[in-house]
This record gives sequence, C-alpha cells and structure tokens, in this order.
Amino acid sequence: MLTDSYGRVATDLRVSLTDRCNLRCTYCMPPEGLEWLPKPELLTDEELNRLIRIGVTRLGITEVRFTGGEPLLRRGLPEIVAAAAALDPRPKTALTTNGIGLSRVAPSLAEAGLNRVNVSLDTLRPDVFEKLARRRRLHDVLEGLAGAAAAGLIPVKVNTVLMRDINDSEAPDLLRYCLDHGYQLRFIEQMPLDAQHGWRRDTMITADEILDRLSAVFDLEAADASTRGSAPAELFYVDGGPATVGVIGSVTRPFCGACDRVRLTADGQIRNCLFAREESDLRPLLREGGTDEEIAERWRAAIATKMPGHGINDPSFLQPARPMSAIGG
Ligand code: SAM
Ligand code: SF4
Repeated sequence: MLTDSYGRVATDLRVSLTDRCNLRCTYCMPPEGLEWLPKPELLTDEELNRLIRIGVTRLGITEVRFTGGEPLLRRGLPEIVAAAAALDPRPKTALTTNGIGLSRVAPSLAEAGLNRVNVSLDTLRPDVFEKLARRRRLHDVLEGLAGAAAAGLIPVKVNTVLMRDINDSEAPDLLRYCLDHGYQLRFIEQMPLDAQHGWRRDTMITADEILDRLSAVFDLEAADASTRGSAPAELFYVDGGPATVGVIGSVTRPFCGACDRVRLTADGQIRNCLFAREESDLRPLLREGGTDEEIAERWRAAIATKMPGHGINDPSFLQPARPMSAIGG
C-alpha cells in the first residue's frame, strides 16, 4: 500500500504520457509552448507499462488515469491502455484529454479497455476558444466529445476552467450543453500551476462565484457529501436531478485530507502531490537493473513524505518548478 504519514492511502495513479500539447491554454502554457522534455529522458512504453504493473500488483493502485500534456499525442496509447487493462487485479482506466482527435481513436481506446474519459471544454464559442487555447479547434473538441460517447466511454465527463472576463459568463451555457448531451460537467478552480506564473488570487473565479452564476439560471441542490469520498468535486443536483454538476474548489475548498492520488511524470518522477516541490526519480532504477521490489520501495518512500495540504493559501506558498502540463493534471 502507498500510505503517507497522515494515514492517507494513494490508490489513484495519474500517468503523464507526454508534456507536449497541441493547444496553448492560457492558464497552462505560454503561447510559444515550453521547452519539452528531452526524448531520452521520456519513459518508453515498456518502462511505463512496467511501472503501472508495479503500482497495480504491488502497491494497491486501483485506478489509472492517463493524462499529460495531451495524452492523445502519445503514439502507443491504445497499447498502453490495453496493458493496464490486462493487469490482475484489473484497474479502472481513464483518460484526461483536450479531445482533439478523440472522435477518431475513441473506438480503439474503448476496445483496448479504456473505461472513461474527461474532456476539457472551456467555451462553446469559437472566438473565445481561440483566445483561451490559442488555436482554432473548438469543432474538433466537440466532435471528440460526441465520439467518446458514441464509443461507449460513458459517462463522458467535461472539465471546465473559468477565466474572468473571458469565459466566466458562459458557465450556464456550458452546463445546458452538457445536460443536453448527457455529459457530466465539472468546473475546476484555476490553480497556480501555469508555466508563466500568471495565476492571481484576486482574479481567479472561485467555487462560490461559479455556484452563484449557475444558481442564477438553474436550481442547484447539494448532493449528500457522504457520497463524495475522495472525489474532489462537490456535486449538485441540477433542477431536481438526476443530472449533476460538479465544482472542484481546489484553492478555496481544498480536499487534501481525502486525497488518494499519486502522479507519475512522463520522465519517470513520482510526485505525491500536484504542488509537491520534490519528486522521486524512478528512472535510474528502471534503467540500471532495479528489481520490481526496489522500485516499489522507492515509490513507497516517495508517498510517505506527502504533505498534509497544498499550502496555496499559506503566505509562504511557492509554486512548484514543474508546470501542470509536465506534471499531468
Ligand atoms: N491536455 C489534457 C487536457 O487539457 O484535458 C490533459 C492535461 S491538462 C493539464 C488536465 C486538466 O488540467 C485540464 O482539464 C485542464 O483544464 C486542467 N488545467 C490545466 N491548467 C490548470 C490550472 N492552472 N488550473 C486548473 N486546472 C488546470
Ligand atoms: Fe494542453 Fe491541456 Fe494544458 Fe490546455 S490544459 S495547454 S490542452 S495540456
């Protein structure tokens, strides 16, 4: 088991498959992109599969989520999903993606054993999409969502980050769109994880504001908090249910006490928190003949030192050096 010194157990592994991306969301990356991780430092498919196997068969990982960067840019994705889905015990598998190209590959991912997808969608307006993601790809994202649902990757979840004076007025429209299409929408508070350090507390849209904007149009009723478990989203029934909307108040309503996540970066670092300032490098062990048990031991040690909280609200908070796109959101 991956237990930390506060008694939390990490069972949800987030695997970043690449730090590269075909969008440039303003809350994530600068327009010119980033200096990508050098190829020799990236884990090969075999190395990734081995670490996922160790996580699942020795360390109690029960859910594997593939993310990035943009995970659909990783060529071997269906094979990596299939290898995870073939493990015993079989973990739940999920993908967080910007949706570009998803309509084409969704059937093969479903076939490979992928259980679910989260697609990021911040706007329904092409001009706003171009401003937010710096590319004209809204149509591809909407097609990706539809393709995922058609391939049976349900329930399709949608992740939305609201930015003040850019897309915050669209919150009710996005919810209406998701309700109409049977997608489960979750709003995520913007976090200080962008490479260009542009996050500002006084301009971020808070969970309270998100709920105010939605409540102006919909009747929201909080779902029973006891069903939330380690899920970061607070759920609300919309107009009497059964449809729900989620709000992930990472900054203003932290849920670190219930966190069950651990992250593996594309270059083989274990991070025990999105906001960790230290990471544990598994690559040397992988490449220099370490045994499965040695790797598992190093992984356990990396979890043991997990901090009780992310500290964003502490005056001494320092943003981690690694940006979101290279951690795996
Ligand atoms: N490229 C994929 C995507 O966009 O879904 C996967 C990686 S992305 C880093 C994962 C999620 O993190 C997306 O839903 C994105 O909106 C979210 N995200 C990125 N930067 C963020 C930030 N600064 N604060 C909150 N969420 C962020
Ligand atoms: Fe790419 Fe996802 Fe970051 Fe947007 S949020 S730039 S889609 S990694």
